[in-house]
Amino acid sequence: MHLSGKNISVVGMGKSGLATANFLINRGAQVLLTDARSEQDLTESTAGLNPAIELQFNDCSPGKNAELIVLSPGVPVDAPFLKEAHQRGIEIIGELELAYQFNKTPIIAITGSNGKSTVTTLVGNILLAEGRTAYVGGNLGTPFIELIEKESVEIIVLEISSFQMETASTFKPHIAAILNITPDHLDRHKTLENYRAMKERIATNQNESDYFIVNLDDPETVKLTCGKQAQKLFFGTQHEGPDGAFLRDNQIILKLKGQEKIICKQEDVPFPLRLQIENALAAIAITAPLDISVRAIKEALCNFKGLEHRMEWVRTVRGIDFINDSKATNIGAACKSLISIERPIVLLLGGRDKENDFSAMLPFLKQKVRHLVIFGEAREKIKPFLNGSPAYEEANNFEDAVAIAVNHAEAGDTVLLSPACASQDMFKNFEERGLKFKTLVNNL
Ligand code: ADP
Repeated sequence: MHLSGKNISVVGMGKSGLATANFLINRGAQVLLTDARSEQDLTESTAGLNPAIELQFNDCSPGKNAELIVLSPGVPVDAPFLKEAHQRGIEIIGELELAYQFNKTPIIAITGSNGKSTVTTLVGNILLAEGRTAYVGGNLGTPFIELIEKESVEIIVLEISSFQMETASTFKPHIAAILNITPDHLDRHKTLENYRAMKERIATNQNESDYFIVNLDDPETVKLTCGKQAQKLFFGTQHEGPDGAFLRDNQIILKLKGQEKIICKQEDVPFPLRLQIENALAAIAITAPLDISVRAIKEALCNFKGLEHRMEWVRTVRGIDFINDSKATNIGAACKSLISIERPIVLLLGGRDKENDFSAMLPFLKQKVRHLVIFGEAREKIKPFLNGSPAYEEANNFEDAVAIAVNHAEAGDTVLLSPACASQDMFKNFEERGLKFKTLVNNL
């Protein structure tokens, strides 16, 4: 792609938009960077930008003379302000696709409904433990477009969201994984079919020299038709395939070309990864084509402390465990967390609904939850599903929700914030919600 002198509009002043604008201006393009937010709200974010970038606040519309539009992942391709650009036939791509067209490094790409950040981080840790020069980013941490500027990189590991795949067309990772598929972001993708199709795009351009990783425990990923050309590797806690990473008699096993290697026992892996052992198996299967030693895999697994806001143990008070799982923003994630905890649970559920089907959660609530506290915008939608079981209480605000949960919990219980909803009705993001929970718990 030729950039010099090209008139390009970048929509969205988030991390990826800012990095994209800098990348384009450094390559001689004329760049207009736009956002719906006000200049006041964005003063800090835009401070480090190259001054040659033209900024437009309070309005996302691309420039009248734009020859190319680069969208940030948060902006859907069918946004009304892009109507004219569509009519004029202007090329619209995302940061992922743009970066890919300039990238020269082999890519590991990881998507799925849940576990992406955990698995992406683990994959990076395994590669580092093996002494490989790997960079980790994408939807997590550093945008892809910044990583392609790094020198002497052996491999780039990317977390990829369904939003990023909407605008990707030629993107072709050497190793691709779809960890699992459960409904999420249906407010944007409308149907599960659309959402699944976006995930599948990660593997559609792969060929026989590439690898596609399949989760044998998840029927939704087993039935996917993408990645047909690629070589397959598998992972599973319940099912074993020919090549990949599996759990057998509590041992983590790597199978490759008829050879088996024992990595370690499940109990050697620390909390919380031990409870999400499929994430460990996924990371092992993903790195399997790269000839990694058992030592490096074991070291990475056994030293993994988990990520903040993902099944994060906060504190034990009077025999009650408090766990911050604020990143569980959909039903699939929250159910997985409920299953993994053995103690009776007092659950904090609620926030902003994302077209969730709460009936899918009911069997897990009945089986695992002793008392439920519902809060936030979604509570009016949740209530009709709860027909007397489990017992629940409503909270008017987050502080009250935590206080009610504490009142109902007894020694031996776990108070779990696994809200199955987005946070933006009450907080800036899931991090702020998780931090608030931790502060309240630490003040008990
Ligand atoms: P993502 O980046 O896909 O959102 P994370 O690794 O940040 O995934 O984990 C988000 C939440 O998803 C966690 O807080 C946990 O509740 C849940 N989770 C983690 N791993 C899995 C998994 N393998 N399957 C289902 N849910 C998971």
